[in-house]
Amino acid sequence: MTEVPKKSEPSLGETFRAFEKNLGFKNDIKWPVAISIILYHLFGIYWCYHYALPVKWQTVGFAMFMFLLSGFGITGGAHRLWTHKSYKATLPLKLFLLGAFASAGQNIVPSENRFVATVTLGEGWHNYHHMFPFDYKAAEHFDPFNWCTYFINFFRSIGWAYDFREATPEMINATAKRLGDGTPVHNPVDITNSDY
Ligand SMILES: [Zn+2]
Repeated sequence: MTEVPKKSEPSLGETFRAFEKNLGFKNDIKWPVAISIILYHLFGIYWCYHYALPVKWQTVGFAMFMFLLSGFGITGGAHRLWTHKSYKATLPLKLFLLGAFASAGQNIVPSENRFVATVTLGEGWHNYHHMFPFDYKAAEHFDPFNWCTYFINFFRSIGWAYDFREATPEMINATAKRLGDGTPVHNPVDITNSDY
């Protein structure tokens, strides 16, 4: 005679996983991280509302300026220059990026997302970047909100940044064909007639 296993109640973990699947997430949510990030932002909103308002327009302007400056330190400096060596920089630019990065005091976690890409100055094209981490743009050519790339290109134009590394359209096309899920590449080129 075989015993019928008792049907046990789902554990708390299983309940959470079922909830995530219901919301359409493919990967498990890291709840302790998610909750602390949400609380961090709620606290920030509360603090601003309670202590910072009303605020001078100069302060808002300064905050936006610092957002861009520190963002450029992270994306253009720590990430694209020092982590991936996707271009070279002269000493003045290195010092500038070091100062900009020091003012940030944080890091970013990119993902493939238009909104993330825009608020992180062009760092949201996660899949592309991890396929071609040496590409100084960290994205294909199509993204008009890749502000970090504009900054770097500015320093390129005055000679402070040089030796740029980029993925060619041929490389992008071939990779999309080999590993892609069928989503068209944003910057397609006809490689059937080239020497590729
Ligand atoms: Zn990277």
